[in-house]
Amino acid sequence: MMEQVKTLIDLQEVMVQVHRLEEEKRKVPLEVADLKSLFEEREAKFLAAEKEFETLRQQRREKEREIEEERDKVERAKAKLMSIKTNKEYYAMLKEIEGTRRTNASREEELLALLSRYEEEEKRLAERKSDLEEVEGNYRERMVDIEARMGTFDADIERILARKRQVASRLEAGLVRRFELIFGRRDSLAIVPARNYSCTGCHMNISPQLFNLLQREDGIHTCPNCNRILYYEAVESEAAGG
Ligand SMILES: [Zn+2]
Repeated sequence: MMEQVKTLIDLQEVMVQVHRLEEEKRKVPLEVADLKSLFEEREAKFLAAEKEFETLRQQRREKEREIEEERDKVERAKAKLMSIKTNKEYYAMLKEIEGTRRTNASREEELLALLSRYEEEEKRLAERKSDLEEVEGNYRERMVDIEARMGTFDADIERILARKRQVASRLEAGLVRRFELIFGRRDSLAIVPARNYSCTGCHMNISPQLFNLLQREDGIHTCPNCNRILYYEAVESEAAGG
């Protein structure tokens, strides 16, 4: 294989590494924003459930207090019955006790309904809490990784760029510029093998004349379709046959 082609392949490898690192670095703020928004979403859900739970807790306490007060009222009224002298007063008091009892019975029904909502909400709150904790744990862990990674990105990129300059220095500046242009426009593939009379970059057929030039390793040639630099690579059958 031509020395120039080998160097171009090396250059491409290094450029792919640079590109990959730059992409990785570019995505970091996006990932952080996603993590943050997921955390905030879970937090808002948790806080809403907590608020709902607190409201129910207060309603429950209030209802229990009302029932307790009414029971006391009934007890006091019962005690009073003993000291009542007239039948009229006695029956009036009994009627009042019965009314209070009935009201309290419906309060107890309300309390039961509240209790079942309370239990549901308590369960929901626990779920939301564990959802939040899960996301919070991931968020914290990932942020530690990300911060550590951010510290090394620039140094890694700089190290690979130095290697790129070193490889590029073995080539003509014009060829490097052309190579970089193709690399940017052709999905980080600027040099590809030609196999079986076709370009492995775009899969178009190439003429036998061009293929012969490549086989003879006669200079740098590009694919007429995608403009990628081509080099000859024998396939199994050809190598065996030839
Ligand atoms: Zn091509």
